[in-house]
Amino acid sequence: MSAPYPPVDGTEVCAQTDPDAWFPEAGNFSHRYGAPSLCDGCHVQVECLEFALTATAGDRPVVGVWGGTTNPQRQRIRAQRARNERAA
Ligand code: SF4
Repeated sequence: MSAPYPPVDGTEVCAQTDPDAWFPEAGNFSHRYGAPSLCDGCHVQVECLEFALTATAGDRPVVGVWGGTTNPQRQRIRAQRARNERAA
C-alpha cells in the first residue's frame, strides 16, 4: 500500500517549471544535481518522498524526481529500510 499522494496546491516548484527537468533520462547530469535541489524547502517534501518510496506505476516504482530524490536514491533508501526492518 502506498503513502497518500502529497497534498500539493500548485505552488510547488515542480508545478511551475519544465516537466522534463523532473523526469529526465537516466545519465543526464542535471538529473543528479538539478531538479532534486529545487525540492529543498518544498512544503510537501516529506510527503512527496514517502509517496514516491511506496507508490508504483504498473509493477514498478514511480520514476523521476520526487521529494528531492532521484530513483536511484530512493532505491538505496528502500534497501536501507528493508535492512533496518530485518535487523529489528
Ligand atoms: S518535493 Fe519536489 S517534486 Fe515533490 S512536490 Fe515539492 S517540488 Fe515537487
